[in-house]
Amino acid sequence: MVVNTHCHILCKELYSDAFWEGIAAGYARSMGVPTETIMTQMMPQTWASDASVYTQIMADAGIDKAYICHPDYGKSVVGEAKWSIEEVNKWYVDQRDQFPDKLEFVVGIDPRRGEEGIKLIEKASQEWGVKAVKIYAPCGFFPDDPKYDAFYAKCEELGMMLQSHTAALTHPLVENKYANPMYLDRIAARFPDLKILMVHFGGGFTTWTLGVIEIMSGRTNVFAEFSGHQGMVKCYPEYWLKLLRAILDAPALFGAPLKERIMFGSDWPYLSPVFSDKDWVQFFKDIPETGKQYGLKFTQEEINLILNENPKKILG
Ligand SMILES: [Zn+2]
Repeated sequence: MVVNTHCHILCKELYSDAFWEGIAAGYARSMGVPTETIMTQMMPQTWASDASVYTQIMADAGIDKAYICHPDYGKSVVGEAKWSIEEVNKWYVDQRDQFPDKLEFVVGIDPRRGEEGIKLIEKASQEWGVKAVKIYAPCGFFPDDPKYDAFYAKCEELGMMLQSHTAALTHPLVENKYANPMYLDRIAARFPDLKILMVHFGGGFTTWTLGVIEIMSGRTNVFAEFSGHQGMVKCYPEYWLKLLRAILDAPALFGAPLKERIMFGSDWPYLSPVFSDKDWVQFFKDIPETGKQYGLKFTQEEINLILNENPKKILG
């Protein structure tokens, strides 16, 4: 069994026009084509990436269960979508309900929404059967500000995992500095019964990945997933495999060793130009064989922890 702990499904109404124009402009710059070309030729396909499309991708990749999530950009410079934040999240719930055996949903709420956000956490837990909340700090807030403590306390009280983006890999119009994993450390300390997922495991390339390892070794309630590391794997497979070997061997000062707290994720569709989900799953399955090329020993049991056993245990 393979569990993908991080992916997206999309429709146009989930975000403002400024959000989509920013994405298109980013792709246009990197591909050297006009923004208009991206908007007319690439975006319509993105806007049709619903649950029926992704469950086909899952079948092809051999993924049995996937967690779809929503980064809430409404309070960022791109502004609110036409739909309310509740309508946005409800769209995902309806999508999930079409494939209840295959999909789970991570509700997306910016903690700056205050009381409205806390009420939505309650609704997601009690009415929608959702077990995790995603925050998206690059939208412009430092997650460790004590003014959000009531938000985190509600997640902890309801037994919902908190998931937060930790990578310099984001929308062209928002800011990376807020995604530094160290801004989650205070939350981990103040709310020891709150499970915290370091989404993207620091990104792969940066000192932030080492920072995530450091935080995990001292906090029993912190976990990480590997989506976003595709670029690193593509460019520097030997370096990345050595990093993985070190993570698997790292003891924790407190709590379970790190190898029991790391999970597979793909971030579909955003990273599929680098690795399709099928190839990304296969890359993990092949690690014991690929590692040999670099004199590194990995066991199938270690890979099963990442793909299957850890997510089952951590995400329930
Ligand atoms: Zn994502």
